[in-house]
Amino acid sequence: MATSEKEQFQTLKRKHHQLLREWRRKRGLCIICAASEGNEDDHLPPKVLLPKSLRNQNIEFLTYPACASCNRISSDEDFLFSVLLSIGLNQESIRLDQEPSDSDLLALYRQAQCQLEDEAEAERRKTLLRRYLGKDPRTGRDAIDILKLPLNHTTTKIVKSIYWLHTGGDVLEAHNPGWWIRPFIDTSKINFIEKHLKVSNADIQWGGRFIAHYTIGHPTNGVGGFISCSLHFYTNRSTAKGMNWYLIAAPVNTLINGVSLYEQCLQILGPATIEPRK
Ligand SMILES: [Zn+2]
Repeated sequence: MATSEKEQFQTLKRKHHQLLREWRRKRGLCIICAASEGNEDDHLPPKVLLPKSLRNQNIEFLTYPACASCNRISSDEDFLFSVLLSIGLNQESIRLDQEPSDSDLLALYRQAQCQLEDEAEAERRKTLLRRYLGKDPRTGRDAIDILKLPLNHTTTKIVKSIYWLHTGGDVLEAHNPGWWIRPFIDTSKINFIEKHLKVSNADIQWGGRFIAHYTIGHPTNGVGGFISCSLHFYTNRSTAKGMNWYLIAAPVNTLINGVSLYEQCLQILGPATIEPRK
């Protein structure tokens, strides 16, 4: 990590420790569902994004309060997310039926493999994976259809935990947002998005391989809870061949000129990926 990046992370870490202590003391909510007490710890980013061999002494995971049920769903979906990364980034070696030669990709590949070998979890995880089997059109063999793998829970929880940390304890889910999750952003819509953000933006990086870039509308300018976040995962060798996700959360209850921000997003961005709860 560069020095300023390191300082930035140290500041974030102090803020994080204080927030977590307060949360435990007041028995605060699960910041993922905002429905039960958040009495378990989950990791930011999910540990599957950075297998052990990719971590160095500068990589520190932050934790955030989640309820048992969100934590449980999360571990299944985090596993599928690791399969997605492994397959998505390893297309070349999969096509050649070989182990990846790039060290980052090999680490991801082994991490996904190793989760299928863990005795306690293997059967459940294999059953999970079978739901996403399809025929590879080129070879006719069974293959995981990565377009079908669910990643909404894992990607939104990353954004929710960043939001919680950044705002010093505001719970995004409590604003009942609709979510737009896309592999890219249509640049003709950028003006609309930026108009509602304005305020703060920052990066969090882990080991130069996983970056979360986020921009958050400030509660005092009338666009509280509006957040845009891009997540980028790439290998040490290549930032260009990474995988990206863009997420936008717009709360139903935030009104701009009398119209809900969620409704405005619907008109501009098209159907939401995840509808608000009510
Ligand atoms: Zn929960």
